[in-house]
This record gives sequence, structure tokens and C-alpha cells, in this order.
Amino acid sequence: MSVSAAAIPRYYSSLDFQALWREYVPAPDFFETTWRLSRDELRAIQNERFLRQMTRAWQVPFYKRYWALHGLQPGDIRSLDDLPSIPPFSVHDLREGSNENPPWMDYIGIDPDADDPMPLVLQTSGGTTGLPRPMIFTPRDREVMNIITGRRLYMQGVRPFDLVQVVLSMGLTNGGVLAREGIWKYTGAVPVMTGSGAQTPTRRQIEILKAWKAKFLVGFPAYVRHMGLVARDELGIDPRALGVKGLIVHLGSESRSSLEALWGADVYDTYGCNECGTMAADCQHKSGMHIFEDAFVLEVNDPDTMRPKNPGEKGVAVITTLFKHAAPMIRYNMNDITALTAGECSCGSKHSRISGIYGRSDNMVKLKGVNVFPEAIGAVISEDSRTTGEYICLLDRDTQGRDELTVQVEAAHPMTSASQLQDTLRIRLKEALGVTVKVQAVQRGEVARFTGLTETSKIKRLIDRRASSPQS
Ligand SMILES: [Zn+2]
Repeated sequence: MSVSAAAIPRYYSSLDFQALWREYVPAPDFFETTWRLSRDELRAIQNERFLRQMTRAWQVPFYKRYWALHGLQPGDIRSLDDLPSIPPFSVHDLREGSNENPPWMDYIGIDPDADDPMPLVLQTSGGTTGLPRPMIFTPRDREVMNIITGRRLYMQGVRPFDLVQVVLSMGLTNGGVLAREGIWKYTGAVPVMTGSGAQTPTRRQIEILKAWKAKFLVGFPAYVRHMGLVARDELGIDPRALGVKGLIVHLGSESRSSLEALWGADVYDTYGCNECGTMAADCQHKSGMHIFEDAFVLEVNDPDTMRPKNPGEKGVAVITTLFKHAAPMIRYNMNDITALTAGECSCGSKHSRISGIYGRSDNMVKLKGVNVFPEAIGAVISEDSRTTGEYICLLDRDTQGRDELTVQVEAAHPMTSASQLQDTLRIRLKEALGVTVKVQAVQRGEVARFTGLTETSKIKRLIDRRASSPQS
């Protein structure tokens, strides 16, 4: 394409913002409008947006190929009620796609040789092996995600002029960059982008927090806990005295109460992904994460049969976006284990909730027939104040071909009795998991080389060493 042939697209004229805000209402108006809708009214909005999303998805090469392979025809889907007949896919299917011209992957559906230019954003998955998985966002995709970030933070107490310190990696991965955009554009608060520990050393993060009085921290719970412990034990600063009101984290199985006690602040859970941004978040009542249902349909299904689970029953999260032009996600199996929350939230909203993310189904380890999630181990460890809450699970195979799990856990103080700590944790983990694992107490800071705690937002909790074990 020659330079003269195409006008340069300008971001602020690439969208009708007024129309967008009527459709995806930003905070605070959202809480007087969409948030108050009945289930039927929400379903009607979802149905209409879903059919438009399907029209778009049929233009995307990945779906054309994947759906044809499964015998799906455009006429098969007439309403949201037909959603269960669409074949789900997972990240493995995205990776296996025909991707001759990266980063213009076949699931994105944008062709730089044929399409009109538009201002695009590229971010990636946190991919730890090989090249990261690219995701491209159009202005509208990105604005809807920003509006939802704004709603979430407003719901969790963020107000104009508040400083919000974001301790997520800033770079290729979406989390930190997306938080900045949403805070800046849709909350009136001021993002302070200190990034991960690799970008701003932890001590400096705390000095900045103390001096500028950030009211909220956005990050992964393990790093937020690490910051609290560095403040308390290395800098002699009581985190509770820093005036932080809220910790906005992907809580997973981490202990909410111990993080709240460490910081003297409310912990709000959030569920999101690189492809879609925030999908669900705690309201002030912290009784399950409300799904932003004007933008997403979130199913909780049996991982094998894909049949829906009842509220309270665990299954995998399967997500369908209702707004994306680039890389629409139609029944994307996230492999995250969650459950729909039964009953209604005290806040009065009819938006459905999920009770939390219990682990990733592809991180699951089978020990003597029992399914074990490394994340559940973390929940037990972080409740024991003799530890830093930091741990790594090492999976090995013994000479008889049996899998065994060793949990290395950091003792908070050099004076801690390793054998006592190991004994207690072994018993507690047996109670919590239903199977015995080995526990090894190590010195503070020792597992960071496995987990990447101070280097990245993508913290590892499981190392599979079976390939190098005695018999494999
Ligand atoms: Zn609520």
C-alpha cells in the first residue's frame, strides 16, 4: 500500500464516542442504568449483541475453518439460546491455527493488505515458552475494555484525583497497559505506573507509595504481599499505616483475609484475560465477582461434556465476547476453574457472579487419583504467618512411575524452625487437598528464581520436572 493511497487514521475520529457510551455506559452512569436491569432485559441486550458478534465472527478465518470442521453453518445460530451448539475452543486451537503472516493471526481477522487502516493496539499473552501470542485491538474493542476497567475501579471505590499505583509489568503483556488506559480515561484517578519489580525495585515502589499516598494498588496478589512484607520487615514501615484503601488483584486462591490484615485494606478480586480485559469483578460486598454481562456471556461448564454446571458447582469458564471486532472470542474455554454464585448479591444488581478462580485446569496435578491445584496450596501457605506466602510446587516422577509433589515454601524469618513449619504445613495440606505432599522449608527469597516474583507479573507456581525424573 503506498503512503499516498491511504489517509492516516486518527484515533479520535475513528469512533463515535457518544454512541459508544450509550451502548456501553461508563461509570458512574452505568450503575444507574445497565447495572439495574432485570435478567430478561440483560438477556435481550446480550442476544442482540451476540447475533452481531456472530456476523463478525463468520468473517474471521479462524472461525470459518474451525466451525466448518465441526459442521457449523451460519444459519444454525439464530439466538443466544443456540450458543451451546457452537464448538468451544481453547488456547491450543489458537496456537495451531494457520498463521502465515504473524502478528496478523487468523483469529484476529484483520488483513493489512485489504482492510482500511485504523489505529490499532498490539499486546500479547504472557507466554513463557516461544513467542508470545499476539492480540490486536481496534479503537472500539479497546474503548469497551477501558470503559469496563473504569466501571470496575469505580465499583471498588476509586474516585477522581485518587492515585492508583499499578504494579503490573508494562510491556508486551496487556495487564499493565490496559489498567493505565482504563484508569486514565474512565475514572478521573491518576495511574502511577511503577510496573513490576523488574521495572521499579520493590523498595522504590514503597517509597513512591509512601510519598505520593496512592490509595489503591493494582497488581498480582503475590507481588502485593511481597511489597507489604518488604515494607514491614526490611524498611520498618507498617503497611497498614500507608493509607492504602484498596488492593485490586486477581485473587485466585490466595487468602483474602491475610492480605487484608497485612495492608489494613480491602482486597477486591477481579477476573480478566489478555484477549478480553476485565470480565468480572467484586462489588463492595465482596461476595462473588459480577460478570459485566452487557459485554460478555460467561458459561461455567463441565470440562469434559461442556454441559452447564449449576450454581455452586465447579467447572471451567467459557467466555463469549459481545463487542470485539478483532479476534472476537466465541466460546473460548479459558481452562480456569470457577463456579457461578447462587442467590442475589446484597448490592441489588442482577448481574450474575462467579465465586472466584480456583485454579487452571491445565495446571492441575493428579496425585494418587486426587486432583490438586497448586493455587489451593498457596491458599494454605499464605495463612501461616511463619511463611512469606511464597512457594513453588515441583512435580517429579519416582522410580515406580508415581508422581509426587514437593512444595518448597519460604520461611519468613531465619529463626523459624524448619521442621516444625514443615510438619504443620504437611498436615494442613493433607487436610485441604486430601493427599500427602512433601514440604520443604527454604530461606526467604529462595523460590523467586522459580516463580519470577520480582521480575514478572506472570508468576509460576508449578515446575513439571517429570521429563528429567528417574523413569519417564
Ligand atoms: Zn454486588
